[in-house]
Amino acid sequence: MKINLSRPDITKLEIKYVTSVLKSSSLSLGPKLPEFEEKVAAFVGTKHAIAVNSGTSGLHLCVKSMGFSPGDQVITTAFSFIASSNCLLFEKVIPVFVDIDPDTLNIDPDKIEEYILKAKSEGRGDRIKGVLPVHVFGQPCDMERILQIADKYKLIVFEDACESLGSEYHFTDNNTLKFTKNNNSWRKAGTIGEVGVFAFYPNKQITTGEGGIIVTNNDDIASLCKSMRNQGRNVDGKWLSHIRLGYNYRLSDINCALGIAQLERIEEILLKRENVARMYNERLKEIKGVRIPYIAPNVKMSWFVYVILLEPEFSKNDRDNIMANLIDQGIGSNNYFPPIHLQPFYVESFGYKSGDLPITESTSERTIALPFYNNLAEKDINHVCSILKKEIDKIKQTKNF
Ligand SMILES: *Cc1c(COP(=O)(O)O)cnc(C)c1O
Repeated sequence: MKINLSRPDITKLEIKYVTSVLKSSSLSLGPKLPEFEEKVAAFVGTKHAIAVNSGTSGLHLCVKSMGFSPGDQVITTAFSFIASSNCLLFEKVIPVFVDIDPDTLNIDPDKIEEYILKAKSEGRGDRIKGVLPVHVFGQPCDMERILQIADKYKLIVFEDACESLGSEYHFTDNNTLKFTKNNNSWRKAGTIGEVGVFAFYPNKQITTGEGGIIVTNNDDIASLCKSMRNQGRNVDGKWLSHIRLGYNYRLSDINCALGIAQLERIEEILLKRENVARMYNERLKEIKGVRIPYIAPNVKMSWFVYVILLEPEFSKNDRDNIMANLIDQGIGSNNYFPPIHLQPFYVESFGYKSGDLPITESTSERTIALPFYNNLAEKDINHVCSILKKEIDKIKQTKNF
């Protein structure tokens, strides 16, 4: 028996919409692009949405559109997928990593402020220009605190919401509501900062095959991103007139049609994922040594992956053994995330070392992502949980805890 780590959920609707584009005369820059963009904008509640060919491309255009200079610093998290930090390096902006909250696994706002104060006291605070929170595994960061800090130190906030389409964050402080623009205390992840990015790789909540989308209420950022994704053409201009440096980051109508079908099913998709997570929680919460995902009280979760955390008495080696044994028995699993600052390229470029981010590192050594997708059957969840429990018991027995 083999149970994949993830699996797209493609129905007749997706096949119908994609086929109809294939039968049309516009495979790219046709009507499906604006239709997809309008539907995403309406779903998340922003004025603009600009579709691109990957989440990474979207993040790159965000960084470009905010006018950072080489050597500027943006505070972000190392407990993430590498693209959230690489997008800064593309423009020679320096990612500054601060540690995470051990419960939510998101960037810790106190650590952001600590870093700023320390840098300022050492006279090197003026290169800090932004904060890039990543809503890890679908859970929104503590955006209220992040916006307060950003306001205090005049930093721009943009969100890597690639894992969090559909998640919501609840603002509680009346003073912070001013940041939310429409005074609505519940806001969708990705729409809280100046600009946000969602991704549509096949393991995300919805997929376009490959793809991503930038969302913002800022007209200038939107038109810049539109131009840059299309070779720097003026948005309403001629085909061979290029007014700035641009890229080919376009998303084809074939991909957009797939996205439209997925988005029409978004409520069903989010519910199915929530249901899978609930079934896992019920089965795993009593196992000693396993911590099921912690969800903060002021968020609505859109589940991207299901990741358990082993308690600290388990070593990295124990975790790796459990994972290898799961894979041997046909159960997909992975170690989301190895920390970015310890990736070889980052160690080489910036000299990071073990111990720089203790919570990020100890978390990374104890996570196990389990099979997670919309149509994961209850019997498969039971199977995964019973094998996992056996593997954990084996370690507990040899180590006597
Ligand atoms: C998926 C993801 C991205 C973007 O990935 P692409 O593969 O380029 O679409 C960026 N950041 C995070 C945190 C992600 O999970």
